[in-house]
Amino acid sequence: MARLGVLALQGGYDAHARTLRGLGHTVDEVRTADDLARVDGLVLPGGESTTHLILIDRFALEAPLRAFVASGKPVLATCCGLILSAAEVVSPAQRSFGWVDVTVARNAWGRQVHSFEDTADPESPVGPVSMLFIRAPRITRVGPAVEVRATYRGEPVLVRQGNVTAGAFHPELTADARVHEAVFGRG
Ligand code: GLN
Repeated sequence: MARLGVLALQGGYDAHARTLRGLGHTVDEVRTADDLARVDGLVLPGGESTTHLILIDRFALEAPLRAFVASGKPVLATCCGLILSAAEVVSPAQRSFGWVDVTVARNAWGRQVHSFEDTADPESPVGPVSMLFIRAPRITRVGPAVEVRATYRGEPVLVRQGNVTAGAFHPELTADARVHEAVFGRG
């Protein structure tokens, strides 16, 4: 059984914790560098990326997060987490950590309805997983080191570079645990 962490500064961390516990993992809420030092994998949840950047600074978490990613432990970043992990953020431009060589445009999926649910294209490597998009970022460029794990209508929506898997949608808000299982396995 792995001890996993969910970054619990703001946003939708609780649903991730529930999904991970359902897979048999032990889950800690992570708010400090000490919390981070105790876990073997990490979720960067959905939320508001601008707020996350402020809180990460306030709690001095940038260096510990960078060290965690560099350690090679598995990380799942969703929505706001994808925005934080991207190499480049546009509309509007924003600081990001550059763990996954993609460009993302904020709030670019489902502009009219803000939120919708569907399934990934059947040929997606992770399978036709259930996806909920909430004011989701759009991946507009994928670098050569990035593997596309799921597409929606031909566009990348779940990508992986090394130990960081990042998605535009919310797998934790559906009953489908396949994305979490693909990243962290079962406990
Ligand atoms: N729109 C949010 C942002 O730009 C992300 C939305 C989400 O995480 N569901 O940070």
